[in-house]
Amino acid sequence: MSLSVHEQQSLQPFNTFGVAVKAHWYAEASTDAEVREALAAAAALGAPLLVMGGGSNLLLTGDLDALVLRMVSRGRRLLAEEGGQVLVEAEAGEPWHPFVLWTLEQGLAGLENLSLIPGTVGAAPVQNIGAYGVELKDVLHSLLAFDRQSGELREFRVDECEFAYRHSRFKRESGRWLILRVRFALSRQAVLHLDYGPLRQRLQQQGIDVPTPLAVSQAVCAIRAEKLPDPQVLGNAGSFFKNPLVDEALAGQLRERWPGLVGYPAGDGQVKLAAGWLIEQAGWKGYRDGDAGVHALQALVLVNYGGATGRQLLALAQRIQADIRTRFGVDLEIEPVVC
Ligand SMILES: Cc1cc2nc3c(=O)[nH]c(=O)nc-3n(C[C@H](O)[C@H](O)[C@H](O)COP(=O)(O)OP(=O)(O)OC[C@H]3O[C@@H](n4cnc5c(N)ncnc54)[C@H](O)[C@@H]3O)c2cc1C
Repeated sequence: MSLSVHEQQSLQPFNTFGVAVKAHWYAEASTDAEVREALAAAAALGAPLLVMGGGSNLLLTGDLDALVLRMVSRGRRLLAEEGGQVLVEAEAGEPWHPFVLWTLEQGLAGLENLSLIPGTVGAAPVQNIGAYGVELKDVLHSLLAFDRQSGELREFRVDECEFAYRHSRFKRESGRWLILRVRFALSRQAVLHLDYGPLRQRLQQQGIDVPTPLAVSQAVCAIRAEKLPDPQVLGNAGSFFKNPLVDEALAGQLRERWPGLVGYPAGDGQVKLAAGWLIEQAGWKGYRDGDAGVHALQALVLVNYGGATGRQLLALAQRIQADIRTRFGVDLEIEPVVC
């Protein structure tokens, strides 16, 4: 099928904040050929090309004078198996959570802790998605990306992706790499990660002492459903701020003043503070200004009660950042991509 380009397309259904903005040009790509066509179309229009997946890590602050390309490619397959290690490949446009469930149905372990994260397979490496003690880098084998500068395809091994906390080479070189397919190293012998948050406790409460990967996935889904607002009901992009890394000296000073400070050793003399705790302490939890607000149960999540614009949500985020800087001397970094 060849690419069809639409004009003045509303992006409201395609971003989980539910912000009402338009793309000057909009297209969907389900094949590599359509990706190439979109790049050629953008060049012919003299417009930048913005790639998106599920729009669950985006804050759109105004109409986009760009060609917005939504990745809708589908396909997932087992590529190789040896000694219980299984190589699995998925197309960039595959919705993430159904893909996780599919791997579990194949009897494969590795992605269970990353259940119920919105978005697509192709965007998952961009911010090295993570949850419940597992990050994408722990299970990624390699990926295939299109170099928008040279027009060539390039394969990246996991060690070439520069993965860090909610960061990667693809985020650093934003606009250069368009991820087409991702390969995962999964396993038939589960090595479960249950020590993060209330996961083990939840399983024990259910009487499960020796969980399967599927049971872990179900527990993760249950905990997430209690903690995080469903974007179908209340617009949001998950955690709005990264947990800040500060040096131990500052963490020590803060702990003297606020003994309940939540932080975890992060190596290299650094401590990762819980951004949600800082925001809650500062009194922002449940705050609402018009239709832009801070979720009543989870201070790390900004929400759109219906009619908030991206600019209003960004203005609220900036007020929170300034307040946290003044109170704690800590800089909060915004996690979603702002465009
Ligand atoms: C309720 C909720 C809970 C969440 N929980 C978590 C969580 O636990 N952990 C976590 O890490 N994140 C979480 N997120 C954030 C989000 O789901 C992830 O970052 C997800 O990977 C974004 O995928 P997406 O397809 O929606 O990307 P989009 O929002 O569409 O795009 C995000 C960025 O990736 C780029 N991009 C998208 N596709 C491609 C591609 N194929 N090639 C190159 N670049 C691309 C875009 O240009 C943009 O810069 C949550 C979000 C919500 C709404």
